[in-house]
Amino acid sequence: MRLVMKFGGTAVDSGKKIVHITNLIKSYHDKGNDIIGVFSAVTGMTDEILNVSGYVLKRDKRKIKDFINKTRKIHVDIIQDCVKNKSHKAKAIEVVEALLKEMENILNGIVMLSEVTEKAMDYLLSFGERLLTPIVSYSLLDKGLDSVFLTGQEAGILTDSKFGHARPLLDTTKIRVKYNIDPLLKENKIPVITGFIGGDQNGNITTLGRSGSDYTATIIGVCVDADEVWLWTDVNGLMTADPHIVKEARVLKEVSFAEAIELSLFGAKYMHPRALEPVMDTKIPIRIRNAFNLSNEGTVISKNPSKSSQNIVKSIIAIRNTALIDVSGGGMVGAPGTAAKIFDALARKSVNIMMISQSPSESSISMVVKKDDLDTATTTLDLTLLDKVIKNVRVNEDVAVIAVVGSGMRGIKGIAARVFSSVSKDNINVIMIAQGSSELNLAFVVDNTDCEKAVRSLHEAFMLGKLK
Ligand code: ADP
Ligand code: ASP
Ligand code: MG
Repeated sequence: MRLVMKFGGTAVDSGKKIVHITNLIKSYHDKGNDIIGVFSAVTGMTDEILNVSGYVLKRDKRKIKDFINKTRKIHVDIIQDCVKNKSHKAKAIEVVEALLKEMENILNGIVMLSEVTEKAMDYLLSFGERLLTPIVSYSLLDKGLDSVFLTGQEAGILTDSKFGHARPLLDTTKIRVKYNIDPLLKENKIPVITGFIGGDQNGNITTLGRSGSDYTATIIGVCVDADEVWLWTDVNGLMTADPHIVKEARVLKEVSFAEAIELSLFGAKYMHPRALEPVMDTKIPIRIRNAFNLSNEGTVISKNPSKSSQNIVKSIIAIRNTALIDVSGGGMVGAPGTAAKIFDALARKSVNIMMISQSPSESSISMVVKKDDLDTATTTLDLTLLDKVIKNVRVNEDVAVIAVVGSGMRGIKGIAARVFSSVSKDNINVIMIAQGSSELNLAFVVDNTDCEKAVRSLHEAFMLGKLK
């Protein structure tokens, strides 16, 4: 079989784990499979890069040295544990040091300019994954396997120039990736490719958006006609809830593409929302598996899951770090185009609205946005529409969205009643409600402090812990 295997940051954050993973890759390769590896950065690395760029903008130069030293330590420690051959080790360290030098120079440049463009940010972010792939590749060489490391751009992923959330230009990408990767596989080499990264037509590095390594894996999967794409992670698969919140959460054995997209659209942390797009029209199934628990078969996401897997509710999702904006004003009542003006103003500033609800009286509209977008959203509303279309902008900075997802909910009566009676029984105040017309989900907003309680309450109400 030809398998694309993506390893998330949680699966590669120590040398020991990388040894485990390279053994895993070896065992599948030894059975005669073609393996293409896609790797995220070490857990937390992308966040660290985002943080340091914030400090740098404030001209805090000391932070650069601290950050580079910390990043060096993380990666060199990993190398010490997972690359034993002296010459391989020296080469791995050399590549890492060169990347660190380059990253330090860029950060110093940003301090001078006190500005970081989206293009520069993507370049900076790429270092997270670029630091890890050479290490994995040398660790594979250590095991006697032949391997090369490449960035997603070098592998052939061509994207548009929307830095921070670039999209692949699939037709060209298919030709390029096939051209670059097929010969490597023919030579029995294991390509180790950075997740998250592509390149635009001008040769600039772009990133595909947070959790983009999942997306990379499916893009590469369709390009090389993979039989399956496996996303290896630190949990047993897609589950009935985040196992870090609900101890009794169960693995979902089978999920349809539509359900998985719904789950990821809700920003559940475990998958890029567009990751399934490239494979949806193919027969390539996606498997999500725990790299540290091979006895569990994990979750298969496919076009047509079996009938037996179609229970009413599949998963309870919590999306944190969200804020609620409530705009109101008597002038909004019966004034056509008010909502359009609000959404248009926000869209122009690239604020993504996650949820909307309007009162039937039309005197207020509530919106949920990511906390990161809150400042831009309120400033935009204040500057462009306040005292014209709207009178008040109120904000609740700390809310969570809870979503109940499952295709079996379609057309079934009484789901909402079950959801809201369960949360009210547990004394949780519901701030706002929305249901998609697809009826694949029902979502509501609660105070962030009630988030975990709400997830547990619903998990129990739908008896998801008893799922077979
Ligand atoms: P990776 O590093 O492998 O990409 P992520 O951290 O992006 O992994 O996503 C995996 C995490 O998603 C899990 O550790 C888990 O805490 C979280 N998660 C949230 N909801 C769910 C769910 N319903 N099923 C599985 N994992 C979930
Ligand atoms: N490292 C990137 C992120 O943290 C991509 C990924 O992990 O998939 O978002
Ligand atoms: Mg991820």
